[in-house]
Amino acid sequence: MTQQVTGAELLIDALKKNGLKNIYGVVGIPVTDLARMAQRSGMRYFGFRREDSAVNAAAASGFLTGKPGLALTVSAPGFLNGLVALAEATKNCMPVIMISGSSERHIIDLNRGDYEGLDQYNIAKPFCKAAYRVDRPEDMGLAVARAIRSATTGRPGGVYLDLPADTIGAILDENIDPESTIIKEDDPAKMRPAKAEVAHAVDVLKQAKKPLIILGKGASIAHAEDGVREFIETTKIPYLPMSMAKGLLPDDSEACVAAARSLSFSEADVIMLVGARLNWMLSHGNKFNPNAKLIQIDVDPDEIDSNKKIEAPLVGDMNAVFEELNPAVKKAGIKASQDWLDALKAKKDENFAKMQKRLTTPRSPMGYYGAMRPIKELIRKNPDTYVVSEGANTLDIGRNVIDIFKPRHRLDSGTWGVMGVGLGYAIGTAIETGEKVVCVEGDSAFGFDGMEIETICRLHLPITIVIFNNGGIYNGAEKNPAGSDPAPITLDAKGRYDKLSEAFGGLAYDVKTPEELDKALNEAYNSGKPAIINAVIDPALGKESGHIGNLNPKLGIKH
Ligand code: ADP
Ligand code: MG
Repeated sequence: MTQQVTGAELLIDALKKNGLKNIYGVVGIPVTDLARMAQRSGMRYFGFRREDSAVNAAAASGFLTGKPGLALTVSAPGFLNGLVALAEATKNCMPVIMISGSSERHIIDLNRGDYEGLDQYNIAKPFCKAAYRVDRPEDMGLAVARAIRSATTGRPGGVYLDLPADTIGAILDENIDPESTIIKEDDPAKMRPAKAEVAHAVDVLKQAKKPLIILGKGASIAHAEDGVREFIETTKIPYLPMSMAKGLLPDDSEACVAAARSLSFSEADVIMLVGARLNWMLSHGNKFNPNAKLIQIDVDPDEIDSNKKIEAPLVGDMNAVFEELNPAVKKAGIKASQDWLDALKAKKDENFAKMQKRLTTPRSPMGYYGAMRPIKELIRKNPDTYVVSEGANTLDIGRNVIDIFKPRHRLDSGTWGVMGVGLGYAIGTAIETGEKVVCVEGDSAFGFDGMEIETICRLHLPITIVIFNNGGIYNGAEKNPAGSDPAPITLDAKGRYDKLSEAFGGLAYDVKTPEELDKALNEAYNSGKPAIINAVIDPALGKESGHIGNLNPKLGIKH
């Protein structure tokens, strides 16, 4: 006897058989029943207030687990809201699949006008790594397999899966067995570096007097911490972690020279980029010693020479690269010189002392450093906690102050430096890991996705949100000299963000001193309940654009 199945069932079956368990989304026409069906079939479905947050949660899931996170949206506006986050995930190399319901092709292709009608498939293409449309229900298994492979192999990224309503609802008389389209967990398709490239990189390292490693989030994404640790322990080469590479080795490791960044950039004669692009975040390499030779490990051959000549490219999957490189550097006896390490250590000590002073100098109203100290201490005591952060000054200062001790335990604004990712990342992280999350948010950044506090409270997630409220984008002290309208950067410094948590049954704190913040933070954290702490910072504090004010065109305006 034949058994009838819908496109939706085939999709869910294929997702489950590939080990994908969680869907983050916002439902509506034409995907509401699809979400219900997924939930009833044993998948978990988490509903959000806006699609970008759902896609961000899925991206966090991809970053943490290495499997693609799944997001679900409705058509046109829902799709477009989600597309922003899909593009961000793609820039960040996070594996995620955004599935959107869409209109039937014969309406769209003749532009006949449909409820939320849009040619989503074609619009998505330039904003993600790959876009696929499923026109026949019998192709659902294949589509899922294609999407997983595109999201996770090579440089990971975002994939768009377009599901026209008629494909979702189509009924097949026969169940299709998607067995042949299941991607195996221990997929062997990992790119290995060429032997000659490895030998050349070792030669370059051999000549180095002052070698330096820059660890990027590619190493986090590749789950390459074992290979990285072995390399650093063998060679003693000092390393600088990019923000989402913090914790691959604990930030308080001997070899970590985050506190001697300028010195290491200007003096290093061989710089090894390990899953870090030479993009704006590294000033395109322009602050490096101009004579430094560069080695770059990257899975994407296109990345090599993108900004500076790479003397020794190591193109391949990071784990495969370290499998070859680690024995080779051992054999070659590569070790960083003690003089170089001593010079960096002296600079580190000097900068630690300066930092300690900033953290402990009392000031009223409270400043960034005073407010960061309790968070720093909490994470040191509870290193399993995940930190999510966004903002300008809040992001920059927090990145330097808060040490991370475990791989992939910090998620932040990422490669685009965007705002509005924090709560989505926090939700995805809390769900995927079951651990507590502390969100360190600027007041402006929080505003982009603040309504997700309802999601956090509804799902009872252990997320503590600390909002550094200085009443503005950058700061809150500016007056508009031309009239009574607030200045472009001004927000409400007296705003009580904590009340939003209260509205949905979460904990709420309004604090004005580091001591009050410490007490509130520990109480909220230990309770395991959702919480917002409105941390009032001096509105006069906060540099324009944080550490990247140099990117602002100068128009001669005084402020
Ligand atoms: P950061 O912002 O931390 O400097 P980037 O996002 O600029 O890091 O760089 C990450 C790099 O890591 C990308 O160029 C990406 O191609 C690379 N990458 C991602 N996954 C892997 C992997 N499995 N093996 C090697 N390189 C990888
Ligand atoms: Mg602010």
